[in-house]
Amino acid sequence: MKVPLLDLKAHHAPIKDEIFSVFEAVFKSQYFILGPEVKDLEAKIAAYCQTEFAVGVSSGTDALLLALMALDIGAGDEVITTPYTFFATAGVIARVGAKPIFVDIDPVTYNIDPEKIEAAITPRTKLIIPVHLYGQVANMASILDIAERHGLKVVEDAAQAIGAEDAEGKRAGCFGDMGCFSFFPSKNLGAMGDGGIISIKDATLADKVRKMRVHGGHPKYYHKMIGGNFRLDSIQAGIVGVKLKYLDGWTKRRQENARHYAELFEKRALIQDGFLSLPQAVYEKSNIPHYHIYNQFILRVKDRDALRAFLIKEEIGAEIYYPVPLHLQECFSDLSYKKGDFPESEKAAMETLALPIYPELNLKMQEFVVDTIDRFYRK
Ligand SMILES: *Cc1c(COP(=O)(O)O)cnc(C)c1O
Repeated sequence: MKVPLLDLKAHHAPIKDEIFSVFEAVFKSQYFILGPEVKDLEAKIAAYCQTEFAVGVSSGTDALLLALMALDIGAGDEVITTPYTFFATAGVIARVGAKPIFVDIDPVTYNIDPEKIEAAITPRTKLIIPVHLYGQVANMASILDIAERHGLKVVEDAAQAIGAEDAEGKRAGCFGDMGCFSFFPSKNLGAMGDGGIISIKDATLADKVRKMRVHGGHPKYYHKMIGGNFRLDSIQAGIVGVKLKYLDGWTKRRQENARHYAELFEKRALIQDGFLSLPQAVYEKSNIPHYHIYNQFILRVKDRDALRAFLIKEEIGAEIYYPVPLHLQECFSDLSYKKGDFPESEKAAMETLALPIYPELNLKMQEFVVDTIDRFYRK
């Protein structure tokens, strides 16, 4: 049995007609960039993410870059974030000329550990970028408290976390000054190309971001500031708008799959025998993980690389997010971090493995995945 890590063909087949009607509408209007579909999506996402404004942009990476540009983060500034994330989170900090300052993760949630943030704050610190990794919100109450006490801005990297909630039902993207989302096709809410969006609380900031999205001129061709081309296509926005209606249903399926994995692994005693541990939804209520949207289902396992090779050989998708923590990336060698600086991030990079969790995954496939892992450890 083949079990891919993600199956976009199966994901999109049931909504083909609705998607094609987007192509047709945009073909008819010929309004290809920042058309009515973009405005419509911005209103829907702002409401979905419990925030005032949303500005559609060209990708999740560009959402982060534009957010930092709009906050005037640059040379001489320090930005605190986690080394255990996708490269873009720290890449954009360096790209605006600021310095990434890493803080280790909490080993249970894989998100930045608020207890360790204050020790990293200096007079040059301007911003904290928490990442809601794998689809679970970081400890925002503590992070916002620290930010407020030190006069720091907060930009959430919510690229993996659309719809994820904290214990009070507050959603990713509504906590900080801005929230950055990605519509990369493999995210829980993906376009059919690149795209992203920024959620914003403040009207003045939203206005600035909207201007900087088209080079910063206002009126057009008259520049008080420098932006870039961060525009979103009408076709991508239209597709994401169609898919947003189904997002809660898909999230529910991911959460059911997570529960099935937990039951299947329990049955085979793999957890008790110390071969692996399951992801923990820390905001779990009545044993139902309402708040983790499982962009990824991450196991911590023994012999990770050998297990992964075994799964791939058995045609089961399994991926490592992420094999090299960012403080050990060659391009950041000038930051002078070394091995051992962030032990939890380094440990996670050695031990974690993502299993298929996509909405169309069925119980038979999950049984095969768990059986195969069981076979690996019992042989
Ligand atoms: C995907 C992702 C991004 C970048 O989004 P793109 O749309 O691919 O540019 C940024 N941060 C995190 C945590 C991501 O997972």
